[in-house]
Amino acid sequence: MEKKYEAIVIGGGPAGVTAGIYLIRERIKTVILEKMLPGGTPLNTQRIENYPGFPEPLSGKELMDRFLAQAKNYGLEIREFQEVKKVKKDGNVFSIETEDETYETYSIIVATGTNPIKLGIPGEEEYIGRGVSYCATCDGPFFRDRVVAVIGGGDSAFEEALSLANLASRVYVVHRRDTFRAQKILQERASESGKIEFLLNKKPVEIKGDEYVKELVIEDTKIAQKVSVKVDGIFVYAGSRPDTSFLGDLVDRDDSGFIITDDNLSTKTEGVFAAGDVRKKPLRQISTAVGDGAIAAFGVQRYLLEKKIYLR
Ligand code: NAP
Repeated sequence: MEKKYEAIVIGGGPAGVTAGIYLIRERIKTVILEKMLPGGTPLNTQRIENYPGFPEPLSGKELMDRFLAQAKNYGLEIREFQEVKKVKKDGNVFSIETEDETYETYSIIVATGTNPIKLGIPGEEEYIGRGVSYCATCDGPFFRDRVVAVIGGGDSAFEEALSLANLASRVYVVHRRDTFRAQKILQERASESGKIEFLLNKKPVEIKGDEYVKELVIEDTKIAQKVSVKVDGIFVYAGSRPDTSFLGDLVDRDDSGFIITDDNLSTKTEGVFAAGDVRKKPLRQISTAVGDGAIAAFGVQRYLLEKKIYLR
């Protein structure tokens, strides 16, 4: 009985922690199951400027420490290193299996975010940890006064290119088109940085080196010509995708694997909600994850009331 909850939130990023805060304030018996340490994707970001309420930029870690301190103030239970392997439904009870525990709950909020997409080119896997990275915040300091390439043209690529420009001697932004998805303010800053050089209409095709990365081979997407660029590090920001295989067919997904929800963030299975980057939505930001967390928690609250489920 001790592992029976009214609500279980899977994932301890901004959406999950917000949902947890809202649920615990409604006195709903809740636990967050987090596969690593709580904080989510923002932990990989050096500088957050567009989350309202913080006029001075702050790091993702600083911001998430505040989320977590607030959750702790209300006594929210967060269980770390609990990667969910399987979710099963029996009547109106869900059982959630992790490596070493089974939890029971009447409702679930899936807030597991996304994982980086790999390029899938020769040399990428081989050089992970030896020049290839998916986290500039974690690995950037190894490239002080070195030459690095950032792959991608979205917000992540630009934010991390700007942060790497404070350390590296040169930063190439390699993008397969000649227009970017990134916010205009980030594009302006990158153009003015003096350290960032754009390699446009170029797609990465191979990573070469000896013990460590030495070269990135890129191909011009217009004239199919390959050139090799000498680099010490390659930071891949080619987007991200969710992994919700642990849910089986409890949810519907779009072609990219994002969970489809209705306006209340309910999925096709009664009692299962999704919040944050994991769901199909037009904009993935901390601010929209927070909004999702609140809406999903409200959905859970109404669902439990409707089903007259009270553990205490
Ligand atoms: P993204 O917006 O999906 O951008 C991925 C980039 O990688 C695109 O420019 C894409 O090119 C390129 N790309 C994809 N596959 C590639 C491949 N195989 N080879 C080369 N390039 C490839 O991903 P993201 O930048 O990680 O952002 C994800 C979400 O988080 C977005 O909604 C973003 O706005 C949000 N985000 C927000 C902030 C913020 O607000 N501060 C910070 C980070 C992320 P194409 O453009 O040609 O498709």
